Amino acid sequence: MKTIELIVPCYNEETCVALFYNRIKEVFAQIPDARFVITYVDDGSRDRTMEEIKKVLAAAEQGTVQYISLSRNFGKESAIYAGLSRSTGDYVAVLDADLQHPPELLIEMLDALEKEGYDCASARRVSRKGEPVFRSLLSKTFYHVINHITVIDLVPGSTDYRLMKRSVVDAIVSMSEKERFTKGIYAWVGFKNKWIEYENVERVAGKTKWNILGLFKYAVSGFFAFATTPLRGVVYLGMVIVLLAFLFAIYVFIGASRTSSARTGYASIMILMLFLGGVIITILGMIGEYMARIYMEVKNRPIYFAREMYMMSDIVHSAEEKQGEICAEQDVKKE
Ligand code: UDP
Ligand code: MG
Repeated sequence: MKTIELIVPCYNEETCVALFYNRIKEVFAQIPDARFVITYVDDGSRDRTMEEIKKVLAAAEQGTVQYISLSRNFGKESAIYAGLSRSTGDYVAVLDADLQHPPELLIEMLDALEKEGYDCASARRVSRKGEPVFRSLLSKTFYHVINHITVIDLVPGSTDYRLMKRSVVDAIVSMSEKERFTKGIYAWVGFKNKWIEYENVERVAGKTKWNILGLFKYAVSGFFAFATTPLRGVVYLGMVIVLLAFLFAIYVFIGASRTSSARTGYASIMILMLFLGGVIITILGMIGEYMARIYMEVKNRPIYFAREMYMMSDIVHSAEEKQGEICAEQDVKKE
């Protein structure tokens, strides 16, 4: 029987944890040949999320719930990494705790992997019903820019909800970058992926952790994580400005040789100075963005710290180790 491990990042999701478990149980009743394990990754929640997870664990069937509790709020991307890097299931899925990623899609995703030979199946939201217009507009622009400028191709509406084979999980975990833009990483590792479309669903409970500023920062960091073209772009921009200056110089010299008086111009000099100053500062800022990222990566800090966890693989390992110790002791006694 195949094990499907579900990685669920949770940040202040006290109202969703138990609802999530119940829905998953219902869905897996329809998949008799697969077993599920939910890995709740508590991303430093400040509410009763951890208590709720422990309650669910106590009430659940043995071996269906495990958890990792991070030492602080590291962000969804790090929480996903924590879950993936410790996963052991044959198949691994990543999905939100608020049930906005319909668990029913797992049935179709599993078929794609088992019967159609795909390596992973990802969910794509085809409607943005119930979402603010400005947010939709921002996200549309983001996809447009990132697809034209970076090496990766992001499908509009793509989410980080997907079911993957072990090989894909290993590839994702092997990408050790600290600032993780999961959607971009999914696109970058490649593999044979099937898109599964669904309509937007509202949260079952609680409220979203995102505001417009947060989303904007997320988009910018996603952009810088995968685009190096702006660096080359500024080289071309510099060349164009030099060329323009050269043409302008010729124009001024010819003008000066025709009329004996030199041109004066406070306004034109000010405009040019401000323009060039602005261009230079913008470019410096952009280079600074890349430098800051290099700095953070070079420090090589761990992506997360766990303060507490209950993982089946650890339990099996420590049981094996104990077994090993007992055997060793017996060997010593025999001698
Ligand atoms: N999340 C997290 N850490 C954070 C923010 C969010 O683990 O710092 C989780 C959250 O608990 C949820 C998922 O990421 O399971 C998606 O968050 P949310 O529903 O707030 O985002 P939205 O669906 O509005 O984009
Ligand atoms: Mg949500």
